[in-house]
Amino acid sequence: MAKRDYYEVLGLSKGASKDEIKKAYRKLSKKYHPDINKEEGADEKFKELSEAYEVLSDDQKKVQYDQFGHAGMGQGGGFGGGFGGADFGGGFGGFEDIFSSFFGGGGSRRDPNAPRKGNDLQYQMDIDFEDAVFGADKEVTVRKQVVCDTCEGTGAKPGTKVNNCSTCHGRGQVAVEQETPFGRIRSERPCPDCGGIGKEFEETCADCHGSGIRVKNVTIEVKVPAGVDNGQQIRIAGQGEPGINGGPAGDLYVAFRVSEHPDFERDGDDIFYDLKLSFAQAALGDEIEVPTLDGRVKLTIPSGTQTGKRFRLKDKGIQNVHGYGKGDLYVTATVVTPTKMTDHQIELLREFAEIDGEELNEQNENFFEKTRRFFRGE
Ligand SMILES: [Zn+2]
Ligand SMILES: [Zn+2]
Repeated sequence: MAKRDYYEVLGLSKGASKDEIKKAYRKLSKKYHPDINKEEGADEKFKELSEAYEVLSDDQKKVQYDQFGHAGMGQGGGFGGGFGGADFGGGFGGFEDIFSSFFGGGGSRRDPNAPRKGNDLQYQMDIDFEDAVFGADKEVTVRKQVVCDTCEGTGAKPGTKVNNCSTCHGRGQVAVEQETPFGRIRSERPCPDCGGIGKEFEETCADCHGSGIRVKNVTIEVKVPAGVDNGQQIRIAGQGEPGINGGPAGDLYVAFRVSEHPDFERDGDDIFYDLKLSFAQAALGDEIEVPTLDGRVKLTIPSGTQTGKRFRLKDKGIQNVHGYGKGDLYVTATVVTPTKMTDHQIELLREFAEIDGEELNEQNENFFEKTRRFFRGE
């Protein structure tokens, strides 16, 4: 089930003060406390309340929630990693609607004029590795339904009269009688003449043809959070499609697809770098510079370094997207065997092997040596 807005859970509107949040929680938690309230669903309500209060009473969490909604809240929200943990609130709207129309007779019937939240929208954004690491301000252009600005969503031509619908007398619903195997059933249906809004326009708005809604390309600012990873998403509250009957707008979910870095590989908050060392560097040791996300740093290669040796550069990884510290940079050494050597180098290596007591059956002569032997007639 989609998570309810934390402010809504506490019966508050967005931007409520600390004091209001505390008071609302105190009042409602008494009402739904499982020791006091034995009604079915009370403990669920209490849990929901506690969760909302835990976030909204914590300054840091509140800021994150105000900015990213449930998607900013870690596990269970959109930042859980991938799409799995996402809170696709709007996705359940359709189901609820079908459900209530099936079981509409039982008194739980939805008022067609009741405010309903608009649909959520999804957007996939491609971003650079660096933008994911450091965060960035971006824009997306989304083609979506918006409230018609000419008529402000009423559907009526500005300045013209709006009357109650003559068919339903402004109720938005009409009574229908049906013969069924269980007898004659009387039920209510949305008025076919006004579509359930209960109004009749003297003249409809020319820009939206009376719907109150238009489809437009809308440019929305997206704050890419520093440390976001491939597949994670954020929720931008209120940037989905407009609400119905004055309900709140849906949300926009932006999922990030992060491009690869030419040098670094990422795993969570850690990054990995492959360092190639010459035979001499690895054997004798060296002090070299390696790239990091914020410039080059010195790294000491001890003598006798083997391929596969891993150096950990603490806190040189990626800032955790939830603000929990930084990852590390791991530098893995690969010793590169020389392939192009001068005669002198070859001689020295033979000497090296000899001192080591090695007897080599050399397989790969270099080109010059071959040519020389050829001309000497060897
Ligand atoms: Zn309009
Ligand atoms: Zn009507």
